[in-house]
Amino acid sequence: MTSEMVVVKRSEIGLGLFAKADIPKGTRIVPYTGERIRKDDVEKHKGRYLFTLNNKWTIDGKSKTNLARYANHSCRPNAKSITTIKAIWIIAQRKIRAGEEITYNYGKAYFDEFIKPNGCKCVKCKPV
Ligand SMILES: [Zn+2]
Repeated sequence: MTSEMVVVKRSEIGLGLFAKADIPKGTRIVPYTGERIRKDDVEKHKGRYLFTLNNKWTIDGKSKTNLARYANHSCRPNAKSITTIKAIWIIAQRKIRAGEEITYNYGKAYFDEFIKPNGCKCVKCKPV
């Protein structure tokens, strides 16, 4: 899977999202897309790919067409997620060079539930 800016490839921890060319700081890289779920129905949609859009809607990004789901967590990321009225975007937090893996911080709630139990394997946390 690929877009103009990114490609999904094997990373050190499963699949990851990689820059195909240099990406300037502030660029909207990929939107976080998926089925929109009403707040009241979120409990029924368990999983790792739920992303809160606002106080009414959550996006279930589990579809493989959602390129943003391949961006791995890092405690020292080069991108971040921003939420606009209608969408969630992964944007470059600094200049990202061609070939670099794109990562963002998933936030404390996700980290504590899904990452902490197995230990974080990001560049900052993994033992050298
Ligand atoms: Zn980490």
